Amino acid sequence: MIARVEPLTTTRRLSGPFDYRVEGAVEVGALVRMPFGHQKLDGVVVGVAETTDVAPEKLVDVTSVRGDSIPRDLVDLALWMAEEYCSTPARALSLVSPPPGKAKTAFWAEATGVEGRVNASQEALLARLPGPAGGDLAALRRLEKRGLVAISSRVARRAPRTNPAADRLVDLSDAQAAALAAIEAAPGASHLLHGVTGSGKTEVYLRAAAEALERGEGVIALVPEIALTPQTVARFAARFGDTVALLHSALSEGERYDEWRRLRTGEARIAVGPRSAVFAPVSNLGLIVVDEEHDASYKHEGDPRYDARHVAAYRAYQTGARLLAGSATPRPETAHSTKRLVLPTRVAGGRDLPPVRVLDMRGSHHSLHPDTRRALGASRKSIVLLNRRGWSNFLSCKSCGKAWECPNCDVALVLHRAEHALACHHCGHRERVPSRCDVCGSLAVARHGAGTERVEAELRHALDVPVFRLDADTAANKDAVPELLARFAAAPEGLLLGTQMVAKGHDFPDVTLGVVLDADSTLRFPDFRAEERTFALIAQLAGRAGRGPRGGRVLVQTTSPDAPSIVAAAQHDSDGFLKGELERRRAWRYPPFSDLIRVVTSSLDDARPAHAAATRLAQEIVATDTELLGPAPLFRLRNRERFQLVLKTTARAEAIAATGAAVEAAARDRAFKDVNFSVDVDPT
Ligand code: ADP
Ligand code: ZN
Ligand code: ZN
Repeated sequence: MIARVEPLTTTRRLSGPFDYRVEGAVEVGALVRMPFGHQKLDGVVVGVAETTDVAPEKLVDVTSVRGDSIPRDLVDLALWMAEEYCSTPARALSLVSPPPGKAKTAFWAEATGVEGRVNASQEALLARLPGPAGGDLAALRRLEKRGLVAISSRVARRAPRTNPAADRLVDLSDAQAAALAAIEAAPGASHLLHGVTGSGKTEVYLRAAAEALERGEGVIALVPEIALTPQTVARFAARFGDTVALLHSALSEGERYDEWRRLRTGEARIAVGPRSAVFAPVSNLGLIVVDEEHDASYKHEGDPRYDARHVAAYRAYQTGARLLAGSATPRPETAHSTKRLVLPTRVAGGRDLPPVRVLDMRGSHHSLHPDTRRALGASRKSIVLLNRRGWSNFLSCKSCGKAWECPNCDVALVLHRAEHALACHHCGHRERVPSRCDVCGSLAVARHGAGTERVEAELRHALDVPVFRLDADTAANKDAVPELLARFAAAPEGLLLGTQMVAKGHDFPDVTLGVVLDADSTLRFPDFRAEERTFALIAQLAGRAGRGPRGGRVLVQTTSPDAPSIVAAAQHDSDGFLKGELERRRAWRYPPFSDLIRVVTSSLDDARPAHAAATRLAQEIVATDTELLGPAPLFRLRNRERFQLVLKTTARAEAIAATGAAVEAAARDRAFKDVNFSVDVDPT
C-alpha cells in the first residue's frame, strides 16, 4: 500500500506530501516515522493509494506506525487551516496531533476466592482487594503464585484535578427553554446566546450538551483561559463527571495524553478547554460551545495564526455539528452573522445590573477622581480595573526632554518600581532606573502616567482594606492566580486591582463596587476594535459588581465621556452599541463587511530588505474587490524593522490564495533571504 505522508518538520517548508510504501493496511491520520534524506522524520498520512509515480527503486518503506492516530476529519481540518491561514500542512497538522506520551499501565489485584493459610499482614492485604496493586505488588505476586490472587494490568488514568462545584438541577426559565428549543430544532445551525452575566447561558450550554450526549453525539466546549474562568469547567465536570475530558495547558504531560486518549477512544465524550480544545479528537461531534465568544484569547498568536471561533465554525460545518456561542458582549460580526437568542434578564434571584456612572477626567492630573476615592472608602469589597501595568508608563528629562526608550524597540520603557527597573513590555529588555539624565546630567527625571503598581501604592496609602493586585507581573506564576482570587473571595474586606484579567468570569457575590480607571487606555488603541473592546471591558466589569443582595454600582473614569462605547456601556445598551458599531463598520468597510489580511515583513537592524519585500508584495498581491493599504512602517521590535500591508477584501478565498502564493514566492527568493514574513488572516 502507498501512503501519502506530510512530514511534521516545522523548520523547513517542504512541498509534500511524499509517497512511502507500507506493509499491510494504513489509514489517513496514521502517524508514521520514516526515512527522509539522511534523517528520520515523523509524519502524518494524509492520503492512501494503490499506486505511485515514484520509481520502484526509489520507493522506501515507512520505519514504523504509531499506535495512536489522528481522526480523519481532523486531518482534513488541518489541511484546510494550512490554506486558510497561509501556513504549512506540517504546522497545522502538529496542532491536531496527539500530545506526546503514552498510556500508563497499572496492576490490579483481585482475590480469587480460594482459601489458603495466610498470615496477618497477608490477610490485611487480601481484605482491601479488589484494588490497585501499588506498592504491594511483590507481596501480591507471592499470593498470586499460590492461586489466592489474580493480577491483571490495565490502563491507569492520570486524572487532572478539578475544583468541585455543586450542581443544581433547575427548571429552565421561559427564555432559556425557548433558546434550547431553537438550538434543538436546527441541527447543524449556529446560534449566538446573548445575555448578561447570570442570565443563565451556562445552564443552556449544559442542557444542549446533555441533549447531544442523549443522541450519542460528542461535545466540545471552549472557554477562555482556564485560570481565570474555573467555574464553567467545574460545572461541566460536576454535571457530566468522567464523561468530561479537560484539555488545558496546566496539565502534566501524562494527564494531557490520557485526556486526549479518553476522547479518542470514546471513553470521554465532552472536551472542555481553551482554544486548542477545538482540535479535540471527539467523534460524531454534535455540538461546539464557545463560551465568552468575545474573548481575545481565542486568537492564537503562533503560526498558523488561527482563530478558534472561525475554526470551530468550520469544524461544525464539516461535521454537521451545532455551533453555540455565548456572551454578554458579543462581537459585532457574530451578532451580524448568527441567529441571536436573547436571555433578557438575570435568572430568578439575580439582581439587575448595577448603575454605571461616567466620571469626566478631562483636565485632571490625578489617577483617582474624588468620587472614586469616596466610593472606594465606603465600599467593603471592590474591583478596580486599570489596563496598564507597572508604575509609570514613561520617563522623560525635565531639562532636555530626553525620553527613555527601549534600545531594541521603538517604544517607551515602563517603570517597575518594586524591581528597581525600567522594562520593555514588548521584548522584555530591562535596565536600571536612572537617577539622572545621561544626555544633560539633570537630576529632574519626570514620571508620567500611572499603572497598576503605582495605583496599588496609592490605594494602600488611602484606604484601610487589603489590596490584591492581579496583572501579568503578579500572575507570572500560573498557580498564583487561582490562589489570589480565592484569597480575595474569602476576604471580608478587600480590593481587587488589576488589568483586564479582573473583568473575566469570576463570581464574587459580595463585590458592590466596580471601577474602571482610564477607560481611554483601550480606546486610544489605533485599531478598529477599540470601541468594541472598551464596551466589552466596562460591561464585563459591570457584570462582576453587584451580584449579591446588597447590589452595587460602577464608576468609569474617562477623558472621552462621549465615546459611543462609553455612552452605551453606561446605559447597559448592548443592542444599541452593536447597532451603532455595525453602522460604523459598514461605513468604513471593516469586518463583517470585509475581511482583513495583514502581512508583516521584518529584517534585522536594516529596514531596506523588509521595505523592499513589502513593496514587492504590494505589487504582486492582486485579487478582485480587494483594497491594499501600505506598506506602512511599524515600530521597530526586537531590533527588527517592520512593514505592514493590510488587505481589505470581499473576495476572501481569492485574497488569501493570492497572499499565500505571493508570500511563498517571496520567501523562497534569495533577494529576501534576510526577511521574515508573517501573514495574519482576521487579525485582532
Ligand atoms: P451565565 O452563564 O449567563 O452567567 P448561569 O447559567 O451561570 O448564567 O446562571 C447563573 C446562576 O443562576 C447559576 O448559579 C445557575 O445555577 C443559576 N440558574 C441558571 N438557570 C436557572 C434557572 N432557570 N432557575 C434557577 N437558577 C438558575
Ligand atoms: Zn536631560
Ligand atoms: Zn523592547
